[in-house]
Amino acid sequence: MLVARNKVVRFEYTLTNDEAQVLDRSGEGEPLTTLHGSGSIIPGLEAALEGKRAGESFKIRIAAADAYGEHDDELVQNVPREMFEDNDAIQIGMQFHSDDEDGETRIVTVTAANADSVTVDGNHPLAGVPLTFAVTIVDVRDASREELAHGHVHGPGGHPHD
Ligand code: ZN
Repeated sequence: MLVARNKVVRFEYTLTNDEAQVLDRSGEGEPLTTLHGSGSIIPGLEAALEGKRAGESFKIRIAAADAYGEHDDELVQNVPREMFEDNDAIQIGMQFHSDDEDGETRIVTVTAANADSVTVDGNHPLAGVPLTFAVTIVDVRDASREELAHGHVHGPGGHPHD
């Protein structure tokens, strides 16, 4: 069975950047499980999986635009330090939830801080970074009717329901 829309795909992966640093990988015996075509993984990887079969391995470098997007300078903001509760504790690398003008919640990361202001970056940490995935497809199966109705996978590695 080939990977196609509405198939459930399990795959192992190792993610590296152009400096060959490992950024992420699936756990030992814990492949990532996705409903193909649901947009739950980055577009470049979803496209690369299309048409592959169980047991197949491949490696692909995905441009930032097809991964977590280009880095958007407008999402980098300087905020007065007194705007933060507990502002003595602000440190580079801390993350906060922030509501933008459209009411959407973003995670912002502190990238710089001085006595008066704090620089926060609302880009995904991997924005602007080309990503290389080494992938091995574990198995491919049809999604159940219930999974298709929910738009996600059930069972091991799938969506937890109460
Ligand atoms: Zn569900």
